[in-house]
Amino acid sequence: MENRMTLKLPAIGKNESLARSIVAAFAVELNPTTDELGDIKTAVSEAVTNSIVHGYPNRDGEIEINAIIDGETLHIEVLDRGIGIPDIETALQPFYTTKESEERSGMGFTVMESFMDNLSVENRDGGGLKVTMEKSFERKIAGD
Ligand code: ATP
Ligand code: MG
Repeated sequence: MENRMTLKLPAIGKNESLARSIVAAFAVELNPTTDELGDIKTAVSEAVTNSIVHGYPNRDGEIEINAIIDGETLHIEVLDRGIGIPDIETALQPFYTTKESEERSGMGFTVMESFMDNLSVENRDGGGLKVTMEKSFERKIAGD
């Protein structure tokens, strides 16, 4: 069974909560626990906030979110056409931030990584960033 959804939103602050609620609603068919839904919401929220704050620091832009359910796995892509990241390996380190002055803690990618089963980050051809996250909902047999 496969299901998919594409969402395009202006990169403005109020769309962070909208995006995370829509992706969480999409994920409901996988029977997530309340904790798992919270994990998905937090991860989406971190990625979307990054696009708004870092991707488009001084200009309007668009965020695209693709969510795919493939069997028991949820795939989420968050894409922007912003400035991208010159050194992704460094940006993924805990506490690394380019916006210390704005009281960012540099923990967004670390949170996405710990709340989801997989995280990959790449610059896009033509500019901008693509963040891909996966979470598996394979249920273990009771007592396993
Ligand atoms: P926090 O998420 O804790 O508020 P943060 O956003 O700085 O702080 P991360 O989310 O881990 O921390 O991101 C690390 C760094 O990666 C950012 O400081 C920024 O330089 C860069 N970055 C993240 N997302 C993007 C993006 N969409 N476009 C451009 N740069 C990004
Ligand atoms: Mg962040």
